[in-house]
Amino acid sequence: MTAPAAGRVAIVTGAGAGLGRAEALALAGDGVSVVLNDVSEQAATVVDEIEAAGGKALLVTGDVSERATADALMAAALEHFGGLHIVVNNAGVLRDRMLFSMSDEDWDTVIRVHLRGHFLLSRNATAHWRRQSKVEGGPVYGRVVNTASEAFLFGSAGQPNYAAAKAGIAALTVATARGCARYGVRANAICPRARTAMTKEVFGEAPEGAVDPLSVDHVAPFVAYLASPEADAVNGQVFVVHGGRIALVRPPSVE
Ligand code: ADP
Repeated sequence: MTAPAAGRVAIVTGAGAGLGRAEALALAGDGVSVVLNDVSEQAATVVDEIEAAGGKALLVTGDVSERATADALMAAALEHFGGLHIVVNNAGVLRDRMLFSMSDEDWDTVIRVHLRGHFLLSRNATAHWRRQSKVEGGPVYGRVVNTASEAFLFGSAGQPNYAAAKAGIAALTVATARGCARYGVRANAICPRARTAMTKEVFGEAPEGAVDPLSVDHVAPFVAYLASPEADAVNGQVFVVHGGRIALVRPPSVE
């Protein structure tokens, strides 16, 4: 599937900081018009950054776990930029606790923002692409990039809510790919290992003066690739993406 002649349009959630910001900038750098979402107004600065570099961007603030936010994001893409081709589901929160001390609220908040957030926007976008494909009589250009986590593979002792949400997102990704491929939709997930405001408690501070192997800048270009025409044959996959596992292990202490 070649890129649409009028240019691609993306929605990126949680785009005010960290990985979502880097993803929005990477897509804009590829000429994609971006509808940014975040609960925080701080995402307005990312819109300014994109526009200052000659790109097109628009901010829709709101909570991704609310249906009204998913509806508003779709409307902004279609009405303001004239289409929708890419959804990057990235918004997330942490409420870390061991299972035996976890409150109902810690559980519900993380499942809602991550899993329901991914569901609502994916549902709206795939419904749009399915409709469009029926009108056009063939597959359209639809890309979903979801954000899972290695936590879904090996669990995460202090994050049972997050690990469960990410496992759900991995399963949702495969179901999206299988159910919607016939309309032209490609759905993949990344398991990023990136240092952000949200994850720095887990990964610690960046090494001073050295290239950070956990920089979001290692992850964002891969997301831009998954959203590109070149990744047309990549579907239903869950990728671990970071600056190289080799960079994460300490150098040997023996000569
Ligand atoms: P990461 O980049 O690892 O996802 P960050 O904390 O750097 O972590 O970024 C997560 C972004 O998601 C933040 O900008 C945060 O404001 C945003 N966010 C958190 N909860 C929601 C939500 N319910 N809806 C939309 N955005 C959210």
